[in-house]
Amino acid sequence: MTTTCAIAGCGPAGAVLGFLLSRAGIPVVVLEKHNDFLRDFRGDTIHPSTLELLDQLGLADEFLKLPHRKVSHVQVETTAGERLRFSLERVPSKFRYIAFMPQWDFLEFVTSHAARFPTFTLLRNAEVVGLIERDGLVRGVRYRDAAGEHELEAALTVGADGRTAVTREAARLPRLETSPPIDVFWFRLPRRQDEAAAVFGRIGPGLLLVMLDRNDYWQVAFVFPKGKGDEIRARGLDAFRADIVRVAPELADRVGGIRSWDEVKLLTVKVDRLLKWSTPGYLAIGDAAHAMSPVGGLGINVAIQDATAAANVLWRPLSEGRVSDRVLEEVQHRRERAVRLLQALQGFVQSRILQPALMSTGAPSLPWIMKLITRTPFLRDIPPRLIALGIERPHVESPDRYNPGA
Ligand SMILES: Cc1cc2nc3c(=O)[nH]c(=O)nc-3n(C[C@H](O)[C@H](O)[C@H](O)COP(=O)(O)OP(=O)(O)OC[C@H]3O[C@@H](n4cnc5c(N)ncnc54)[C@H](O)[C@@H]3O)c2cc1C
Repeated sequence: MTTTCAIAGCGPAGAVLGFLLSRAGIPVVVLEKHNDFLRDFRGDTIHPSTLELLDQLGLADEFLKLPHRKVSHVQVETTAGERLRFSLERVPSKFRYIAFMPQWDFLEFVTSHAARFPTFTLLRNAEVVGLIERDGLVRGVRYRDAAGEHELEAALTVGADGRTAVTREAARLPRLETSPPIDVFWFRLPRRQDEAAAVFGRIGPGLLLVMLDRNDYWQVAFVFPKGKGDEIRARGLDAFRADIVRVAPELADRVGGIRSWDEVKLLTVKVDRLLKWSTPGYLAIGDAAHAMSPVGGLGINVAIQDATAAANVLWRPLSEGRVSDRVLEEVQHRRERAVRLLQALQGFVQSRILQPALMSTGAPSLPWIMKLITRTPFLRDIPPRLIALGIERPHVESPDRYNPGA
Protein backbone atom coordinates (compact mmCIF):
# COMPACT_ATOMS: atom_id res chain seq x y z
CA MET A 1 0.00 0.00 0.00
CA THR A 2 1.20 3.53 -0.68
CA THR A 3 -0.04 6.96 0.32
CA THR A 4 1.23 10.53 0.32
CA CYS A 5 1.28 11.08 4.08
CA ALA A 6 1.34 8.30 6.70
CA ILE A 7 0.54 9.49 10.22
CA ALA A 8 1.41 7.22 13.14
CA GLY A 9 -1.06 7.76 16.00
CA CYS A 10 -4.58 9.18 16.11
CA GLY A 11 -4.44 11.35 19.22
CA PRO A 12 -5.23 15.08 19.01
CA ALA A 13 -2.14 15.82 16.85
CA GLY A 14 -2.60 12.94 14.37
CA ALA A 15 -6.37 13.35 14.06
CA VAL A 16 -6.21 17.10 13.39
CA LEU A 17 -3.29 16.82 10.94
CA GLY A 18 -5.07 13.96 9.15
CA PHE A 19 -8.23 16.08 8.93
CA LEU A 20 -6.49 19.20 7.61
CA LEU A 21 -4.31 17.45 5.02
CA SER A 22 -7.08 15.26 3.65
CA ARG A 23 -9.34 18.36 3.49
CA ALA A 24 -6.62 19.93 1.33
CA GLY A 25 -6.88 16.95 -1.04
CA ILE A 26 -3.74 15.12 0.16
CA PRO A 27 -4.10 11.31 0.47
CA VAL A 28 -3.52 10.51 4.15
CA VAL A 29 -3.48 7.25 6.12
CA VAL A 30 -3.67 7.58 9.91
CA LEU A 31 -2.64 4.43 11.81
CA GLU A 32 -3.97 3.99 15.34
CA LYS A 33 -2.94 1.03 17.46
CA HIS A 34 -6.22 0.94 19.40
CA ASN A 35 -9.58 -0.06 18.02
CA ASP A 36 -11.33 2.92 19.62
CA PHE A 37 -10.49 6.15 21.39
CA LEU A 38 -11.75 4.96 24.79
CA ARG A 39 -8.82 4.77 27.15
CA ASP A 40 -7.49 6.06 30.42
CA PHE A 41 -7.94 9.70 31.24
CA ARG A 42 -5.43 11.75 29.26
CA GLY A 43 -6.91 15.18 29.58
CA ASP A 44 -10.29 16.27 28.39
CA THR A 45 -9.73 19.95 27.95
CA ILE A 46 -10.69 21.67 24.71
CA HIS A 47 -9.23 25.15 25.02
CA PRO A 48 -10.36 28.36 23.28
CA SER A 49 -7.60 28.09 20.65
CA THR A 50 -8.95 24.68 19.57
CA LEU A 51 -12.52 26.01 19.57
CA GLU A 52 -11.29 28.89 17.37
CA LEU A 53 -9.75 26.34 15.01
CA LEU A 54 -13.03 24.42 14.81
CA ASP A 55 -14.79 27.74 14.24
CA GLN A 56 -12.50 28.54 11.29
CA LEU A 57 -13.40 25.13 9.88
CA GLY A 58 -17.12 25.85 10.33
CA LEU A 59 -17.45 23.01 12.87
CA ALA A 60 -17.61 24.79 16.25
CA ASP A 61 -21.42 25.01 16.48
CA GLU A 62 -21.85 21.32 15.72
CA PHE A 63 -19.01 20.39 18.08
CA LEU A 64 -20.47 22.37 20.96
CA LYS A 65 -23.73 20.43 20.63
CA LEU A 66 -21.87 17.42 22.05
CA PRO A 67 -22.20 17.10 25.84
CA HIS A 68 -19.53 19.20 27.57
CA ARG A 69 -18.95 21.44 30.59
CA LYS A 70 -17.90 25.05 30.23
CA VAL A 71 -15.39 26.13 32.86
CA SER A 72 -14.23 29.75 33.04
CA HIS A 73 -12.46 29.82 36.38
CA VAL A 74 -9.50 28.20 38.06
CA GLN A 75 -9.66 28.58 41.83
CA VAL A 76 -6.70 27.92 44.11
CA GLU A 77 -7.39 27.52 47.84
CA THR A 78 -5.40 26.60 50.92
CA THR A 79 -6.69 24.70 53.92
CA ALA A 80 -5.82 27.83 55.92
CA GLY A 81 -8.60 29.71 54.11
CA GLU A 82 -6.64 31.71 51.51
CA ARG A 83 -8.20 31.78 48.04
CA LEU A 84 -7.52 33.24 44.63
CA ARG A 85 -9.14 32.94 41.25
CA PHE A 86 -7.99 33.07 37.65
CA SER A 87 -10.67 33.94 35.14
CA LEU A 88 -10.87 33.21 31.43
CA GLU A 89 -13.60 35.80 31.02
CA ARG A 90 -11.20 38.47 29.74
CA VAL A 91 -9.35 36.21 27.28
CA PRO A 92 -9.33 37.85 23.81
CA SER A 93 -11.33 35.13 22.09
CA LYS A 94 -14.90 34.42 21.02
CA PHE A 95 -14.64 31.42 23.39
CA ARG A 96 -13.90 32.46 26.97
CA TYR A 97 -14.03 29.07 28.61
CA ILE A 98 -12.48 25.63 28.51
CA ALA A 99 -14.85 22.97 27.19
CA PHE A 100 -14.44 19.79 29.24
CA MET A 101 -15.30 16.89 27.00
CA PRO A 102 -14.03 13.29 26.99
CA GLN A 103 -11.05 13.16 24.62
CA TRP A 104 -12.61 10.23 22.76
CA ASP A 105 -15.63 12.40 21.80
CA PHE A 106 -13.28 15.03 20.39
CA LEU A 107 -11.28 12.43 18.41
CA GLU A 108 -14.44 10.71 17.16
CA PHE A 109 -15.79 14.10 16.04
CA VAL A 110 -12.64 15.07 14.13
CA THR A 111 -12.14 11.68 12.48
CA SER A 112 -15.80 11.26 11.51
CA HIS A 113 -15.63 14.63 9.74
CA ALA A 114 -12.32 13.70 8.11
CA ALA A 115 -13.91 10.47 6.88
CA ARG A 116 -16.11 12.58 4.56
CA PHE A 117 -13.03 13.36 2.48
CA PRO A 118 -12.14 10.58 0.00
CA THR A 119 -8.45 11.25 0.73
CA PHE A 120 -8.74 10.25 4.41
CA THR A 121 -8.16 6.71 5.70
CA LEU A 122 -8.04 5.72 9.36
CA LEU A 123 -6.63 2.25 10.08
CA ARG A 124 -7.63 1.12 13.56
CA ASN A 125 -5.88 -1.73 15.37
CA ALA A 126 -2.83 -0.83 13.28
CA GLU A 127 0.27 -0.61 15.44
CA VAL A 128 3.29 1.03 13.86
CA VAL A 129 6.33 -1.10 14.69
CA GLY A 130 9.02 0.66 12.68
CA LEU A 131 9.97 2.92 9.80
CA ILE A 132 10.81 1.89 6.26
CA GLU A 133 14.20 3.42 5.51
CA ARG A 134 16.03 3.35 2.20
CA ASP A 135 19.02 5.38 1.03
CA GLY A 136 18.99 7.52 4.19
CA LEU A 137 15.33 8.48 3.69
CA VAL A 138 12.23 7.44 5.64
CA ARG A 139 9.78 6.03 3.08
CA GLY A 140 6.87 4.96 5.25
CA VAL A 141 5.99 2.69 8.15
CA ARG A 142 5.84 -0.96 9.04
CA TYR A 143 2.71 -1.81 10.99
CA ARG A 144 0.99 -4.80 12.53
CA ASP A 145 -2.71 -5.66 12.59
CA ALA A 146 -4.75 -8.82 13.16
CA ALA A 147 -3.71 -10.13 9.73
CA GLY A 148 0.03 -9.73 10.37
CA GLU A 149 2.75 -7.25 9.49
CA HIS A 150 2.52 -4.85 6.52
CA GLU A 151 4.36 -1.99 4.89
CA LEU A 152 2.84 1.39 4.03
CA GLU A 153 5.01 3.50 1.75
CA ALA A 154 4.59 7.27 1.94
CA ALA A 155 6.20 10.46 0.63
CA LEU A 156 6.13 11.72 4.23
CA THR A 157 5.76 9.92 7.56
CA VAL A 158 4.54 11.91 10.56
CA GLY A 159 5.12 10.58 14.08
CA ALA A 160 2.12 11.66 16.18
CA ASP A 161 2.36 8.57 18.37
CA GLY A 162 2.66 10.35 21.69
CA ARG A 163 5.17 10.49 24.52
CA THR A 164 6.40 6.91 24.07
CA ALA A 165 6.60 7.24 20.28
CA VAL A 166 8.07 4.24 18.48
CA THR A 167 8.65 6.34 15.38
CA ARG A 168 10.88 8.95 16.98
CA GLU A 169 13.04 6.18 18.48
CA ALA A 170 13.31 4.58 15.05
CA ALA A 171 14.21 7.97 13.54
CA ARG A 172 17.04 8.30 16.11
CA LEU A 173 16.40 11.99 16.72
CA PRO A 174 18.35 13.66 19.53
CA ARG A 175 16.22 14.32 22.62
CA LEU A 176 16.55 16.52 25.69
CA GLU A 177 14.83 15.09 28.78
CA THR A 178 14.22 16.87 32.05
CA SER A 179 13.02 15.33 35.28
CA PRO A 180 10.15 17.32 36.78
CA PRO A 181 9.97 17.10 40.60
CA ILE A 182 6.40 15.75 40.67
CA ASP A 183 4.34 12.69 39.83
CA VAL A 184 0.55 12.39 39.93
CA PHE A 185 -2.08 9.88 41.00
CA TRP A 186 -5.33 10.21 38.99
CA PHE A 187 -8.70 8.95 40.15
CA ARG A 188 -12.40 9.78 40.04
CA LEU A 189 -14.83 10.68 42.79
CA PRO A 190 -18.55 11.41 42.40
CA ARG A 191 -19.53 15.07 42.01
CA ARG A 192 -22.76 16.57 43.32
CA GLN A 193 -24.67 18.84 40.92
CA ASP A 194 -24.81 21.65 43.53
CA GLU A 195 -21.00 21.88 43.64
CA ALA A 196 -19.39 24.84 41.85
CA ALA A 197 -18.24 24.37 38.24
CA ALA A 198 -14.55 25.25 38.18
CA VAL A 199 -11.09 23.79 38.25
CA PHE A 200 -9.94 23.71 41.86
CA GLY A 201 -6.37 23.60 43.10
CA ARG A 202 -6.10 22.75 46.80
CA ILE A 203 -2.99 23.28 48.90
CA GLY A 204 -2.65 21.68 52.34
CA PRO A 205 0.39 21.02 54.54
CA GLY A 206 2.62 19.06 52.17
CA LEU A 207 -0.40 18.21 50.03
CA LEU A 208 -1.63 19.27 46.61
CA LEU A 209 -4.85 18.28 44.89
CA VAL A 210 -6.38 19.41 41.59
CA MET A 211 -10.08 18.74 40.95
CA LEU A 212 -11.46 18.89 37.43
CA ASP A 213 -15.22 19.18 37.01
CA ARG A 214 -16.49 16.33 34.79
CA ASN A 215 -20.19 16.92 35.48
CA ASP A 216 -21.13 13.78 37.41
CA TYR A 217 -17.65 13.16 38.80
CA TRP A 218 -14.47 14.94 39.81
CA GLN A 219 -11.34 13.91 37.99
CA VAL A 220 -8.82 14.32 40.76
CA ALA A 221 -5.05 14.72 40.51
CA PHE A 222 -3.13 13.99 43.72
CA VAL A 223 0.29 15.58 43.16
CA PHE A 224 3.28 14.24 45.10
CA PRO A 225 7.10 14.47 45.05
CA LYS A 226 8.63 12.44 42.23
CA GLY A 227 9.29 8.80 43.00
CA LYS A 228 7.21 8.70 46.23
CA GLY A 229 4.37 6.69 44.68
CA ASP A 230 5.43 3.36 46.23
CA GLU A 231 5.81 4.99 49.65
CA ILE A 232 2.28 6.44 49.46
CA ARG A 233 0.88 3.07 48.38
CA ALA A 234 2.75 1.30 51.20
CA ARG A 235 1.07 3.56 53.78
CA GLY A 236 -2.23 2.07 52.65
CA LEU A 237 -5.51 3.29 51.19
CA ASP A 238 -6.85 4.60 54.52
CA ALA A 239 -3.90 6.97 54.90
CA PHE A 240 -4.31 8.05 51.25
CA ARG A 241 -8.01 8.74 51.73
CA ALA A 242 -7.23 10.70 54.92
CA ASP A 243 -4.73 12.89 53.00
CA ILE A 244 -7.39 13.65 50.39
CA VAL A 245 -9.89 14.66 53.07
CA ARG A 246 -7.29 16.84 54.82
CA VAL A 247 -6.95 18.97 51.73
CA ALA A 248 -10.54 18.64 50.42
CA PRO A 249 -12.83 18.05 53.43
CA GLU A 250 -15.99 18.13 51.29
CA LEU A 251 -14.89 14.83 49.72
CA ALA A 252 -15.11 13.01 53.10
CA ASP A 253 -18.54 11.57 52.25
CA ARG A 254 -17.30 9.88 49.05
CA VAL A 255 -13.60 9.21 49.42
CA GLY A 256 -14.53 5.66 50.44
CA GLY A 257 -15.41 5.20 46.75
CA ILE A 258 -11.71 4.51 46.15
CA ARG A 259 -11.79 0.82 46.96
CA SER A 260 -8.46 -0.34 45.57
CA TRP A 261 -5.23 1.00 44.14
CA ASP A 262 -6.42 -0.28 40.74
CA GLU A 263 -8.70 2.76 40.64
CA VAL A 264 -5.73 5.10 41.17
CA LYS A 265 -3.58 5.56 38.06
CA LEU A 266 -0.02 6.74 38.29
CA LEU A 267 1.15 9.41 35.84
CA THR A 268 4.92 9.57 35.87
CA VAL A 269 5.40 13.15 34.85
CA LYS A 270 7.87 13.33 32.01
CA VAL A 271 9.01 16.33 30.04
CA ASP A 272 11.20 16.11 26.98
CA ARG A 273 11.84 17.80 23.68
CA LEU A 274 13.44 16.66 20.46
CA LEU A 275 16.36 18.86 19.48
CA LYS A 276 15.52 18.06 15.86
CA TRP A 277 11.91 17.25 14.94
CA SER A 278 12.66 15.80 11.53
CA THR A 279 14.90 13.62 9.45
CA PRO A 280 14.55 13.21 5.67
CA GLY A 281 11.04 11.82 5.05
CA TYR A 282 9.97 11.96 8.72
CA LEU A 283 8.53 14.62 11.06
CA ALA A 284 7.48 14.33 14.74
CA ILE A 285 4.72 16.53 16.20
CA GLY A 286 2.72 16.75 19.44
CA ASP A 287 3.90 14.73 22.45
CA ALA A 288 6.16 12.71 20.13
CA ALA A 289 8.21 15.88 19.57
CA HIS A 290 7.81 17.30 23.09
CA ALA A 291 6.07 15.61 26.03
CA MET A 292 4.52 18.38 28.13
CA SER A 293 4.07 18.48 31.90
CA PRO A 294 0.41 18.29 33.02
CA VAL A 295 0.79 21.76 34.59
CA GLY A 296 -1.83 24.05 33.05
CA GLY A 297 -3.32 21.24 30.94
CA LEU A 298 -1.55 22.50 27.82
CA GLY A 299 -0.60 19.28 26.00
CA ILE A 300 -3.69 18.83 23.83
CA ASN A 301 -3.73 22.47 22.81
CA VAL A 302 -0.05 22.46 21.88
CA ALA A 303 -0.39 19.19 19.95
CA ILE A 304 -3.29 20.62 17.93
CA GLN A 305 -1.39 23.84 17.26
CA ASP A 306 1.55 21.74 15.99
CA ALA A 307 -0.83 19.90 13.67
CA THR A 308 -2.28 23.16 12.33
CA ALA A 309 1.15 24.67 11.72
CA ALA A 310 2.36 21.43 10.10
CA ALA A 311 -0.64 21.35 7.72
CA ASN A 312 -0.03 25.01 6.82
CA VAL A 313 3.57 24.27 5.87
CA LEU A 314 3.13 20.81 4.33
CA TRP A 315 -0.03 20.86 2.21
CA ARG A 316 1.51 22.56 -0.83
CA PRO A 317 4.77 20.52 -1.02
CA LEU A 318 2.74 17.34 -0.40
CA SER A 319 0.32 18.22 -3.20
CA GLU A 320 3.39 18.47 -5.45
CA GLY A 321 4.51 15.05 -4.20
CA ARG A 322 7.76 15.93 -2.46
CA VAL A 323 8.75 17.44 0.87
CA SER A 324 12.25 18.79 1.27
CA ASP A 325 14.24 18.77 4.50
CA ARG A 326 13.94 22.56 4.59
CA VAL A 327 10.14 22.31 4.57
CA LEU A 328 10.20 19.86 7.50
CA GLU A 329 12.55 22.13 9.43
CA GLU A 330 10.15 24.99 8.84
CA VAL A 331 7.50 23.17 10.94
CA GLN A 332 9.92 22.98 13.87
CA HIS A 333 10.91 26.60 13.31
CA ARG A 334 7.28 27.74 13.51
CA ARG A 335 6.46 25.80 16.68
CA GLU A 336 9.61 25.33 18.73
CA ARG A 337 9.75 28.79 20.33
CA ALA A 338 6.22 28.44 21.76
CA VAL A 339 6.90 24.90 23.02
CA ARG A 340 10.17 25.85 24.71
CA LEU A 341 8.61 28.87 26.39
CA LEU A 342 5.62 26.88 27.67
CA GLN A 343 7.87 24.08 28.96
CA ALA A 344 10.02 26.69 30.73
CA LEU A 345 6.92 28.23 32.36
CA GLN A 346 5.69 24.78 33.42
CA GLY A 347 9.15 24.10 34.90
CA PHE A 348 8.97 27.35 36.86
CA VAL A 349 5.54 26.46 38.29
CA GLN A 350 6.77 22.95 39.20
CA SER A 351 9.94 24.05 40.97
CA ARG A 352 8.84 27.40 42.46
CA ILE A 353 5.22 26.72 43.37
CA LEU A 354 4.36 23.01 43.44
CA GLN A 355 7.58 21.57 44.91
CA PRO A 356 7.80 24.10 47.81
CA ALA A 357 4.11 23.45 48.60
CA LEU A 358 4.77 19.69 48.71
CA MET A 359 7.86 20.12 50.90
CA SER A 360 6.28 22.48 53.45
CA THR A 361 5.21 21.07 56.78
CA GLY A 362 3.72 24.20 58.34
CA ALA A 363 0.45 26.00 57.68
CA PRO A 364 -0.05 26.23 53.92
CA SER A 365 -0.01 29.60 52.25
CA LEU A 366 -0.41 30.71 48.67
CA PRO A 367 2.90 31.40 46.93
CA TRP A 368 3.65 35.15 46.87
CA ILE A 369 4.12 35.07 43.12
CA MET A 370 0.56 33.82 42.61
CA LYS A 371 -0.78 36.54 44.88
CA LEU A 372 1.22 39.17 43.01
CA ILE A 373 -0.03 37.97 39.64
CA THR A 374 -3.72 37.80 40.57
CA ARG A 375 -3.67 41.19 42.30
CA THR A 376 -1.94 43.09 39.49
CA PRO A 377 -4.37 44.03 36.68
CA PHE A 378 -1.71 43.83 33.95
CA LEU A 379 -0.39 40.43 35.13
CA ARG A 380 -3.57 38.64 36.19
CA ASP A 381 -4.73 37.93 32.64
CA ILE A 382 -1.44 36.36 31.51
CA PRO A 383 -1.87 32.82 32.99
CA PRO A 384 -5.48 32.42 31.73
CA ARG A 385 -4.40 33.69 28.32
CA LEU A 386 -1.51 31.21 28.12
CA ILE A 387 -3.79 28.34 29.14
CA ALA A 388 -6.53 29.41 26.74
CA LEU A 389 -4.55 30.32 23.66
CA GLY A 390 -0.94 29.22 24.11
CA ILE A 391 1.90 31.45 22.93
CA GLU A 392 1.07 31.57 19.24
CA ARG A 393 -2.24 30.83 17.57
CA PRO A 394 -1.68 29.26 14.16
CA HIS A 395 -4.64 29.89 11.86
CA VAL A 396 -5.68 27.39 9.22
CA GLU A 397 -3.94 28.29 5.94
CA SER A 398 -4.49 24.95 4.18
CA PRO A 399 -7.40 24.99 1.70
CA ASP A 400 -10.65 23.01 1.60
CA ARG A 401 -10.42 21.21 -1.75
CA TYR A 402 -13.90 19.76 -1.43
CA ASN A 403 -15.62 23.05 -0.69
CA PRO A 404 -13.43 25.71 -2.30
CA GLY A 405 -15.91 28.52 -1.73
CA ALA A 406 -16.02 27.97 2.05
C1 LIG B 1 -2.96 11.46 32.77
C2 LIG B 1 -2.81 12.57 31.79
C3 LIG B 1 -3.56 13.72 31.94
C4 LIG B 1 -3.44 14.77 31.05
N1 LIG B 1 -4.23 15.88 31.21
C5 LIG B 1 -4.22 16.84 30.25
C6 LIG B 1 -5.15 17.94 30.30
O1 LIG B 1 -5.97 18.05 31.20
N2 LIG B 1 -5.10 18.85 29.29
C7 LIG B 1 -4.20 18.74 28.27
O2 LIG B 1 -4.19 19.60 27.38
N3 LIG B 1 -3.32 17.73 28.21
C8 LIG B 1 -3.32 16.77 29.16
N4 LIG B 1 -2.46 15.71 29.08
C9 LIG B 1 -1.51 15.66 27.97
C10 LIG B 1 -2.21 15.30 26.70
O3 LIG B 1 -2.95 14.10 26.85
C11 LIG B 1 -1.17 15.15 25.59
O4 LIG B 1 -0.28 16.24 25.60
C12 LIG B 1 -1.87 15.10 24.24
O5 LIG B 1 -2.81 14.07 24.20
C13 LIG B 1 -0.82 14.92 23.14
O6 LIG B 1 -1.45 14.60 21.94
P1 LIG B 1 -0.71 13.73 20.85
O7 LIG B 1 -1.71 13.54 19.77
O8 LIG B 1 0.60 14.31 20.54
O9 LIG B 1 -0.39 12.34 21.58
P2 LIG B 1 -1.37 11.29 22.26
O10 LIG B 1 -2.60 11.94 22.76
O11 LIG B 1 -0.55 10.51 23.21
O12 LIG B 1 -1.80 10.36 21.05
C14 LIG B 1 -0.95 9.41 20.50
C15 LIG B 1 -1.80 8.39 19.79
O13 LIG B 1 -0.94 7.48 19.13
C16 LIG B 1 -1.35 6.16 19.39
N5 LIG B 1 -0.16 5.34 19.28
C17 LIG B 1 0.88 5.26 20.13
N6 LIG B 1 1.82 4.41 19.67
C18 LIG B 1 1.36 3.96 18.49
C19 LIG B 1 1.87 3.04 17.53
N7 LIG B 1 3.05 2.46 17.70
N8 LIG B 1 1.14 2.78 16.42
C20 LIG B 1 -0.08 3.37 16.24
N9 LIG B 1 -0.62 4.23 17.12
C21 LIG B 1 0.09 4.52 18.23
C22 LIG B 1 -1.95 6.20 20.77
O14 LIG B 1 -2.85 5.14 20.99
C23 LIG B 1 -2.65 7.55 20.74
O15 LIG B 1 -3.95 7.47 20.24
C24 LIG B 1 -2.54 14.67 29.97
C25 LIG B 1 -1.77 13.51 29.80
C26 LIG B 1 -1.91 12.46 30.71
C27 LIG B 1 -1.09 11.22 30.51
